[in-house]
Amino acid sequence: MAEALYLDHAATSPLRPDARQAWLSACDQALNASSVHSLGRNGKAKLEEARTQILADLDQLGANLIFTSGATEANALALKQAEGFDQIIFGATEHDSVFLAHPNAVILPVDSNGSHELEALKSLLSNGLKSFIAIMSANNETGALSDISHIGELCRAHKAWLHVDAVQSPFGIVNADSIALSAHKLGGSQGVGALVSRHTLKPLWRGGGQEKGARAGTENIAGIVAFSAALHAAKLSSIDWLDAKLEIESRLESDGCTILSKAIPRAPHILAFVNPHWSSQLQLMHMDLGGVCVSSGSACSSGKVKDSRVAKAMGFEALAGNILRVSGGWTTRPEDWQRFYDLWKLGFEAFLARKSVSAQVTA
Ligand code: PLP
Repeated sequence: MAEALYLDHAATSPLRPDARQAWLSACDQALNASSVHSLGRNGKAKLEEARTQILADLDQLGANLIFTSGATEANALALKQAEGFDQIIFGATEHDSVFLAHPNAVILPVDSNGSHELEALKSLLSNGLKSFIAIMSANNETGALSDISHIGELCRAHKAWLHVDAVQSPFGIVNADSIALSAHKLGGSQGVGALVSRHTLKPLWRGGGQEKGARAGTENIAGIVAFSAALHAAKLSSIDWLDAKLEIESRLESDGCTILSKAIPRAPHILAFVNPHWSSQLQLMHMDLGGVCVSSGSACSSGKVKDSRVAKAMGFEALAGNILRVSGGWTTRPEDWQRFYDLWKLGFEAFLARKSVSAQVTA
């Protein structure tokens, strides 16, 4: 059988060679950035070099960057800053690490493209309450890009805090008060992330004074230098498979599928679609048996296929169990999209044929 084809980079991306090299260069040494001896100072130098490089690649030099265990923790640290605010607002399609964090948050609706209802945001911001808003830069299930620059201007005008979960689209963020990042979506290692902020941060817990007291715990230097190398490589890389992906989108449409968020700007690596017949679960089983790794939306910790909350928020209530997400990354080649589609189409035709036979039998 052909080698498995990985098209699930929005869930996690394999380690990039540059990141692997950086990780190996750090992990064989006993580097604790808090130690005063030469190895400790060497660790501290690597840590600060990575911090500066990441801020430079994000065009956020001058901001603070606190390393965390990933974006889930970075989001939690950002949300800690919402203590004392009168009103917390979350976009309806935020990742669970934001969405489930405050049961009393006001939910900002999205339209059928996954775009935030900005008039609703304006009226929420105009009620005179001190507000904390969390909006992601790109949705992890559909790729829908948020107009962060504009939302940030609105927030500034109302002295509101804007937190951006930038895991799926980390570059070009402006007007945010805090930004959450994850290394493993970019080709770094899992268990590493960061929160970038222009404010002094209240910590989630107390302990050693690492990360200027904002995040106690010995820094994961090998993971952090790999994160910096991965982000830098991602910044320099370009995509040569966009046309191939667009071609497959139009074929899927000819097969009766709806491409989610097609009418608005999307992060280029994500293609999510629904079809009226074939469930996510059956599609995933077929694709997996054929050696193509895709997903049904967000990666779910239980390994179960759930209806997509994001598709529901966009008004695709009846089709929320039929979403398929295909996401490319640094290992993807143009021909991979055709291989994905050929296998998908084979399964779809077989599914339709079975459906028509069972309809004839029951008629
Ligand atoms: N936010 C978004 C948009 C994500 O896609 C993910 C990962 O699935 C996370 C947050 C959580 O990131 P991490 O795995 O680093 O905790």
